[in-house]
Amino acid sequence: MSDKKNTDQNSSSRNRAVGRTSIPGSMFETQAIREGHNRTHEGEHAEPIFATSSFIFESAADAAARFKGPEPSNVYSRYTNPTVRNFEERIAALEGAEQAVATASGMSAILSTCMSLLKAGDHVVCSSSLFGTTISLFGNIMQRFGVEVTFVAPTDMLEWENAIKDNTEMLFLETPSNPLSEVIDIRALAVISKNAGALLVVDNVFCTPVLQRPLELGADIVVHSATKYIDGQGRCVGGVVAGRAEHMKELVAFLRTAGPTMSPFNAWVFLKGLETLKLRMDAHCANAQALAQWLDEQPQVERVYYSGLESHPGHELAKSQQTGFGGVLSFEIKGDKTAAWNFIDATILCSLTANLGDVKTTIVHPATTTHGRLTDELRAEAGIKDSLIRIAVGLEHIEDIKQDMLRGFAAIGC
Ligand SMILES: *Cc1c(COP(=O)(O)O)cnc(C)c1O
Repeated sequence: MSDKKNTDQNSSSRNRAVGRTSIPGSMFETQAIREGHNRTHEGEHAEPIFATSSFIFESAADAAARFKGPEPSNVYSRYTNPTVRNFEERIAALEGAEQAVATASGMSAILSTCMSLLKAGDHVVCSSSLFGTTISLFGNIMQRFGVEVTFVAPTDMLEWENAIKDNTEMLFLETPSNPLSEVIDIRALAVISKNAGALLVVDNVFCTPVLQRPLELGADIVVHSATKYIDGQGRCVGGVVAGRAEHMKELVAFLRTAGPTMSPFNAWVFLKGLETLKLRMDAHCANAQALAQWLDEQPQVERVYYSGLESHPGHELAKSQQTGFGGVLSFEIKGDKTAAWNFIDATILCSLTANLGDVKTTIVHPATTTHGRLTDELRAEAGIKDSLIRIAVGLEHIEDIKQDMLRGFAAIGC
């Protein structure tokens, strides 16, 4: 990170002085709470929100120097903003990255990664199990700009390898996948991408750095929708990209010119979210594990998809690259689409919304919402049946969540 010199200077003043607060060598939980705060002379304890679009120069000569760079000083909030930088430095620490760059949304994190590091004529190999809008981005928009894309079945390493071409510059995946919790081998793909001279980009939304650190497993770049678990309470839309400085430099250049930067208010909400991320993720995992095991025993349930279950095909791999199984699960009920809809409509605690990563439990019918744009054939190929229901397990009491499931089961009969 660019401002390390301040870090060392402040560690001797026990974080009371003006300047950057960072505890050298500190652990994840500590970094999630302390990293990156650049305290002003006001001596504020919580991180301030710099609600300003531009910054004052000390003199005409100072203005000229700041415009010229390369000193990282503030000019305009499309370029840099202290609250946003605080968020970026904290994420970089948590993902073990040299640098992070915040964006206006998760989608703009992915778009900015592509626009910064790809050009017309390049080829990308993508997992076919991605967030629906990401599939549209790669399948429609990027192709209009001359970027060739091949989608592959994500757990089949041979398909990835066979899809590589001379012009392959990027491999893109999301693990565990949504909604079936397929676990994709990041270490194996890191070898394939290195051999191909391509970048391995991992969307780490479902795990967050609490449960999975893709850069340590060999990925080159991590992207996030901060909208989900990083906020954790469904308040703001935002995104972030993390990786090596050489790549982040390209992202910064793109964002300054194209403009999908994060607002300082949102950065502040995400900073507050990060402070409790570890506690929340641990609690999400515990609730999801308990619910998955309980659903697995219910007579009206055909099958549960959660990598925390030993019967899940990705269980061992998940254990080897994650430190927990996450908060999202799905299950097939014994019945058809009408039964699934009746189940969903009978719940009263679960929020009926496509969002996830919230302290409030959410429920959705993937086949007619998040994956509704797929043709029947593609949906069948993706394994998304009409009887499938997805739950993003929140932090309400587990017994209340089970009670809500029982309302659903009652509505479809036993
Ligand atoms: C929500 C989501 C995105 C997109 O993020 P936005 O903040 O909604 O733009 C990308 N990837 C995954 C896995 C998501 O869940």
